[in-house]
Order: sequence, then C-alpha cells, then structure tokens
Amino acid sequence: MLEIMDLHVFYGGIHALKGIRLAVGEGRIVTLIGSNGAGKSTTLRSIVGLVKPQAGSVRFRGEELTRLSTHQIIQRGIGISPEGRHVFANLTVLENLELGAYNRTAAEFSGQLERVYSLFPRLRERCRQLAGTLSGGEQQMVAFGRALMGRPKLVLLDEPSLGLAPLVVEEVFQAIEAVRKDGATVLLVEQNAMASLRIADYAYVLETGRVILEGEGRVLLEDEKVIKAYLGE
Ligand code: ATP
Repeated sequence: MLEIMDLHVFYGGIHALKGIRLAVGEGRIVTLIGSNGAGKSTTLRSIVGLVKPQAGSVRFRGEELTRLSTHQIIQRGIGISPEGRHVFANLTVLENLELGAYNRTAAEFSGQLERVYSLFPRLRERCRQLAGTLSGGEQQMVAFGRALMGRPKLVLLDEPSLGLAPLVVEEVFQAIEAVRKDGATVLLVEQNAMASLRIADYAYVLETGRVILEGEGRVLLEDEKVIKAYLGE
C-alpha cells in the first residue's frame, strides 16, 4: 500500500533521512522505532508532504506522493496524528474532530464521529470543552480521533502514547488495533518500543536517518540488539 524508496531529507545542513526504504502492506500495523532524532517523525512528515524530500520516492497505492501537496495527499486517504499537542486549543473537541472530516458528507461525518466516540468515550463526554483545556492524554486522543475522521485508508500515528498514564496507553493501543479491524492500515511511530512491537506485524528500527534493522514485531522483541537498546535489559 505504501512504499518508500531511498528517501533523503535535509533540514538545512542536517541530513535527517539518509536513504530510508520501507514498505507497509494493506491492513497491517507497521511500527518505526528508534532513539530521539533517528528520523521517525521526519519519515511521517515526508509521507504527507509536510517536509519535501531532496531525493527518493513515496508511493501510495502505486501513486507517487512527493509531487503532491499535503492537501492532495490527505485526499488520497491518508490521515496523520501529529506528535504532541497539535490540536486547535481554542476550538472545542467536536470542532477539532469536524476539521478532520471537512471532505466528508454529513452521513459519513456522523458515522465516523460515533466510531471515534466509541473508541475514546472520554471525547464524547468532553465534546463541548475547549481542546486547550484538556489533559495531555485527552489532547492526544483528539489528535488521534481527528486523524480518523476522514476515514483514512492509511493512518500515520506519531507517538500517540507519549507521556500518557499506563491505563490510557492501553486504551490508545486498543484503539490502534480497533482501527486496523475497521480495515485501515497503520504506520506507527513510537518511543514505547515494547508495546508497539507487540501489536506490530512488522517493524523498522531507525538510527541517525537509516533503517538499521527490520523484521516481524515479535521477532524483534526477542532480538538482542533491540532488547539492549530499546527494551532495557
Ligand atoms: P524523536 O523521537 O525525538 O521525536 P525522531 O526520530 O522523530 O525523534 P526527527 O524529529 O525526525 O526524529 O528528527 C530527525 C533529525 O532531524 C534530528 O536530528 C532533528 O534534530 C532534525 N530536525 C527535525 N526537524 C527539524 C527542523 N524543523 N529543523 C532542523 N532540524 C530538524
């Protein structure tokens, strides 16, 4: 469904991605793990055109995305939940979710809103609250929910569990599996290597802009290098 070939990204003089190659099959959960600054977020941002790669290709269902605008890419069926609290603080939860569904009909909107509320019941309770007054975890749920509102075929999640309490982390990971059951494909960037390798069909380990290791999630969970570097001994 998604194929990235030999992707290079520079931020000024910083060579952030040095020839990334990865593939995400339809209906799968694929995770990118790696230490801070490895290039995980840059990879996601490149897919949706928020960063322009200097070389390489990103193909989604056979179509080259690097020539398209972010707007066009989202229209192709890709949703992104960005890292951190990237919600509209002065809008309510419901208004934030509406923004994720701007290209949908009213019927599609209500259906998807119900789906998001069933995944994150807290958002239904807080639908009239300004997003800026939510807790960090709740804001993360808004960002995740907003990414789902356009019924994307591919969902990109950037650290959806960052800074969350253990119970909420579990809720987020359950939501990721539910989204896959709904038929979507998931590319997940995570610091929580243990949890993401557990649910991932396939995983890539990034270091300083390169893929240094890849394999099935459960295989990498047993890999000595991965255990040492990312899972603690
Ligand atoms: P983290 O887990 O800490 O979020 P990451 O793997 O997502 O890290 P990126 O955010 O993709 O890493 O960053 C890759 C490299 O590019 C880092 O060295 C970072 O400092 C650099 N970088 C990222 N964004 C910018 C920017 N806007 N301007 C300059 N350098 C940047």
